[in-house]
Amino acid sequence: SRLVKGLSKTRESIVSGIDSIFSGFSSIDEDFYEEIEETLIMGDLGIHTTEKIIEDLRARVKEEHIKDPSACKQLLIDSIRSQMDLGENAYQFENRTSVVLVIGVNGVGKTTSIGKLAGQMKEMGRSVLLAAADTFRAAAIEQLTEWANRSGVGIIAQKEGSDPAAVIYDAVQAAKARKTDVLICDTAGRLHNKKNLMEELRKINRIIEKEYPEAYKETLVVLDGTTGQNALAQARQFQEVADITGIILTKMDGTAKGGIAVAIQSELGIPVKYIGIGEKIDDLQKFNADEFVNALFG
Ligand code: GDP
Repeated sequence: SRLVKGLSKTRESIVSGIDSIFSGFSSIDEDFYEEIEETLIMGDLGIHTTEKIIEDLRARVKEEHIKDPSACKQLLIDSIRSQMDLGENAYQFENRTSVVLVIGVNGVGKTTSIGKLAGQMKEMGRSVLLAAADTFRAAAIEQLTEWANRSGVGIIAQKEGSDPAAVIYDAVQAAKARKTDVLICDTAGRLHNKKNLMEELRKINRIIEKEYPEAYKETLVVLDGTTGQNALAQARQFQEVADITGIILTKMDGTAKGGIAVAIQSELGIPVKYIGIGEKIDDLQKFNADEFVNALFG
């Protein structure tokens, strides 16, 4: 499938390592667990999550009286999957009047992801409006406008440097007047000034709550999957300044660090809602932990 192909680098890095361990050991001993641990850490599942997986694997091996290393593979897959358990992913904003705030630092793929999401919603028959509230860079406004034109959706923008909250205010009024289904807002993510960022997001949230209380609200953070553990650290920082409801993990097609999706769900408890596996509109896919684990190991 497309997902399997998109995740091929991560698949190679984790699965080939794991497979050689399962075939290389004749008994389940400490070295066996250590090698699995190393492989998972190399695959960017993170030390903390990896330790939990190994602990869980040991318990499963004991409980089921497994003696043969090759019989451990399914147990390991189950252990990894269990670390990701956050229940079924919800996409309420798709079928309701909603506002989706999208946050992320420069270069992670924020604009591209918003463009893909807008295009997909439009294809589903929803009316979409974009708000260019990342007003810090003129290029960001231009790029978002290009995506809006390409996808045939409306956009509310002001000039570079204008107040993001003012853009959001305009966009909310326009969304209400046009009876737009989904308003997707490109907002900033300058983490180097967390106090300002927090203030900005608070102001934006206040406007949405006051002007558009009937709208369902979603706050998505975009993270670059190729940065591995840095993506996890970034998510933690965003968690301090916003009520994040989901993650968009991009560029998973170009990286062997895809295991970071496991670490994000396990350590932060935030659902990965979408993954980016390419540059085209259809290359933003809904994330499903079962499919993900199956694509990696199946
Ligand atoms: P922004 O600064 O966060 O808005 O980042 P952009 O949306 O401009 O994306 C930065 C670069 O990453 C662009 O060249 C995008 O085409 C690319 N990109 C974004 N998402 C993906 C993805 O899922 N896969 C790949 N291969 N490239 C991506």
